[in-house]
Amino acid sequence: MPLSENHPTLTKAHSKHIGKQPPFPDADLMHIWAQLDPAERHRLEGIRTFFQENVRHDSIEYWNREEFPHHVLPALAAHGLGGIQLDGSSELFKGLVYVEAARADVSLSALIGIHNELIVGMIHELGSVEQQQKWLPDLTQFTAVGAFALTEPDHGSDIAGGLSTTATREGDEWVINGAKRWIGAATMADFSLVWARDTADNAIKAFIVESDRPGFSTSKISNKIGLRIMQNADIILDEVRVPEANRLPGAKNFAAANELLMHSRAWVGWQAAGVQLGIFDVARDYSLARKQFGQPIAGFQLVQLPLAEILGNAMASLSLMSDLARIQGKGELQMVQAAMAKSTTTRLARDSAAKGRALMGGNGITSDHEMAKLFADVEILYTYEGTYEINSLIVGRAVTGISAFV
Ligand SMILES: Cc1cc2nc3c(=O)[nH]c(=O)nc-3n(C[C@H](O)[C@H](O)[C@H](O)COP(=O)(O)OP(=O)(O)OC[C@H]3O[C@@H](n4cnc5c(N)ncnc54)[C@H](O)[C@@H]3O)c2cc1C
Repeated sequence: MPLSENHPTLTKAHSKHIGKQPPFPDADLMHIWAQLDPAERHRLEGIRTFFQENVRHDSIEYWNREEFPHHVLPALAAHGLGGIQLDGSSELFKGLVYVEAARADVSLSALIGIHNELIVGMIHELGSVEQQQKWLPDLTQFTAVGAFALTEPDHGSDIAGGLSTTATREGDEWVINGAKRWIGAATMADFSLVWARDTADNAIKAFIVESDRPGFSTSKISNKIGLRIMQNADIILDEVRVPEANRLPGAKNFAAANELLMHSRAWVGWQAAGVQLGIFDVARDYSLARKQFGQPIAGFQLVQLPLAEILGNAMASLSLMSDLARIQGKGELQMVQAAMAKSTTTRLARDSAAKGRALMGGNGITSDHEMAKLFADVEILYTYEGTYEINSLIVGRAVTGISAFV
């Protein structure tokens, strides 16, 4: 059963060319949304409408200008999206929120996902009571934003063993030195959660580093080919001093980071499913509106083929993710499952994006049209939260017992 009979993603192309709504306006052939209880389904409907009507179209300009739409944050808060990690929502609902966000704009879905999985989740799971009391009320209202600072200029895939940012205890303070790269939202964040190696015991620990601390500086990474709305940054930490009260007591070693990354890999799987629905929406609408040889190109067999393939990829991704949510809901998610879901859905998303891009001919080439933006954003999903190759090797290790990457 479709989420809504009045799907806002449907353009006038349908009524213009076929005179009635197509039988599957939501593209939800597998009835995934119907698995939600009525209250969550109703809530998601409002969230979808918000993203489709208030975010999707405007995001193209923001994306082209590499700007973040700060005015959206209060609206995200009004829909409760600053706190879906803590409000008792089902894993399926949370995943479908990421789907609806990515369907409209992948950068905003990244912000919402990082915010919930890696910032709110980390402070809630690993922070002290004082840290939770200080930050969670503002975070859940999006009046505060955090950044997750793990990757470094010289250490990406090998960050677990290679992390070289240091933290040295001096009395009641820690002195942090090092550099971080690619850190999402760091230029606009109130604080970064910085992972650093304790020079005393060599263990990797995490610290709340407020952005106004002396010695802490960020510079925006420009000219990204995708996720251009997200403000990624290089961070320099030069003798930055934070109190012991800023160390997250639960973050005692890299295993703590790995636990968070397992869930955030699942979140990227949802993003990959959502972006494919966005690709399908754009491709279907375009094929109904665009005429060649005197008729909508949707009537050509070789246009219907990629439409069917994109939808098949999207449904395979969505079905895999809804099964993953079932396992996650029981608290049984393992890294191998998250890695398989992340690598598989992003591989399918790449295939869908290439097909959607080609279906639009020359108009798929310019980012003035939505498809080129979707096409480019998929590349980020393929690479961040562990590259496609590394996630595949995690699966390979699990099924052979042999590690091919460390
Ligand atoms: C837009 C964007 C946003 C990001 N946001 C954040 C963020 O908010 N916070 C954060 O901490 N990080 C973030 N990242 C970092 C991201 O997680 C890393 O880019 C990713 O882990 C890969 O690391 P790397 O770029 O250093 O590539 P590298 O590790 O240098 O890899 C280069 C290539 O070598 C391959 N490779 C490496 N080692 C092996 C091996 N052993 N076997 C086979 N192949 C291998 C990789 O698969 C890849 O193809 C972001 C990245 C991007 C691009």
